[in-house]
Amino acid sequence: MKELVRSNILNVKAYVSGKPIEETKRQLGLREVIKLASNENPLGPSPKAVSAIKKCLSGINRYPDSQGFYLKRRLARHLSLDPENFILGNGSDELIDIIIKTFVEPDENIVTSDTTFLEYEIIAQVNDRKIKKAPLRYFKYDLAAMLKLVDKKTKLVFIANPNNPTGTYVTKYEVADFLGALPDSILVVFDEAYDAFIDVDDYPDSLAYLRRKKKIIILKTFSKSYGLAGLRLGYAMAERELVSYMERVRQPFNVNMLAQAGGIAALDDKDFIKNTRRLVLKGKDFIYQELSRMGLGFLPSAANFVLVDTGKDGLEIFKAMLKFGVIVRQMKQYGLKDFIRVTIGTQKENERFIRVLRKILKEKN
Ligand SMILES: *Cc1c(COP(=O)(O)O)cnc(C)c1O
Repeated sequence: MKELVRSNILNVKAYVSGKPIEETKRQLGLREVIKLASNENPLGPSPKAVSAIKKCLSGINRYPDSQGFYLKRRLARHLSLDPENFILGNGSDELIDIIIKTFVEPDENIVTSDTTFLEYEIIAQVNDRKIKKAPLRYFKYDLAAMLKLVDKKTKLVFIANPNNPTGTYVTKYEVADFLGALPDSILVVFDEAYDAFIDVDDYPDSLAYLRRKKKIIILKTFSKSYGLAGLRLGYAMAERELVSYMERVRQPFNVNMLAQAGGIAALDDKDFIKNTRRLVLKGKDFIYQELSRMGLGFLPSAANFVLVDTGKDGLEIFKAMLKFGVIVRQMKQYGLKDFIRVTIGTQKENERFIRVLRKILKEKN
């Protein structure tokens, strides 16, 4: 059947997601499984979002608002922009696709980093667009190396900041240098899925660049800090004119009614975000401390996950942890053979992760 398929699709390595809890329980006959594999919010969804969604349920015989009027208005107020600066997506994944489709010609290319969010490459390949990747430097995006990859045919740059799966971030100084040296014909996408967890002073203010009408697109998601991964909701911010072109590519009903209602309520739930942030920062400190005591290497992370150097085969560690009902992410796909990535959970989950990891490493020694 291969001959039926477009050749670029034959080269695509399908995305492998974190293992779902229910499937793992069934397969391994386990009662208690915890998932620390997809950087979701361990507190669940915001209760305010849940009740807003419930109120909407009896209306789902209707199509959703194709413009996302109320959610965009709420976002505009939240971020002091105009509703016309926003486009909504079925997760920010969909917006990556819309961006590539809107801006990158068949003979143009995209520049990003190696060892980053896999969807940039997958979606570029599906759209038959070339993507060029600069290696990380000390596990960080190397913007200077990316600049060297830029050529006359480069249209788009993706910067995951903080980066997934490393948790490292590029500073405002690095971004200023990069944007200063980049030709004006190139659009830069800042994917800020983890911005709620930032607690450093030198994180770049991408919105300030947007306000100065630079060619910037900022991506945000409700999947991580807002606890709405299952609803599929993300948004992009850009200059109105750029948004208007992306709106031509977007499917009219891409964001469902429940997601729109849940998103508005989640934005209103300030306490929920504050509690989530506090939990993650505290949990991260605990995990750093315990990993250090075990003599394991890890990368200090600006996000809600930590990349851990197990000193062993990461896939083996992943499988062994799974048998004890702890799902972490194995990093083979990213070419990080010895590593696992663990999402910060509740204190109880973090303790269980450490207990199981310690036990397994002891057995393997
Ligand atoms: C999780 C994540 C996203 C969010 O994707 P959604 O489609 O909105 O769930 C985007 N970018 C990065 C880097 C991520 O890690």
